[in-house]
Amino acid sequence: MSEYNWCHNPDCHKIETQSRVRGTGDNKVLRTIKIKVGRYGNYQPNIWNYFCNQHCLHQFLNKFGQEIANTYSVKQPSETPIKVRTEKYESYRYKHNGNDYVRTPYQATRKIIENSS
Ligand SMILES: [Zn+2]
Repeated sequence: MSEYNWCHNPDCHKIETQSRVRGTGDNKVLRTIKIKVGRYGNYQPNIWNYFCNQHCLHQFLNKFGQEIANTYSVKQPSETPIKVRTEKYESYRYKHNGNDYVRTPYQATRKIIENSS
């Protein structure tokens, strides 16, 4: 049993591609793309069950992004507890000496997020 969706970009049917042409004789139209659910595998949720390609997804987001942001608004930041270790390591800078760039070592630090599990 196959399930289908129509591409959710409201302007999908205005994009001129051969794959959208339907109809006979002088009654040709550009039609919204029909999408087979699970066409890229069955992991859920899969955005490609609703949009025929990235262009249509982005046209949709450009048109409705404000409404989506309002519907799923973020009023405060979220936080994930982590453990951080600081590590020193030798890195390099390139200094110009008038004619050339000279590779110069220096002691740098980096933060390492340790596995929280
Ligand atoms: Zn589309």
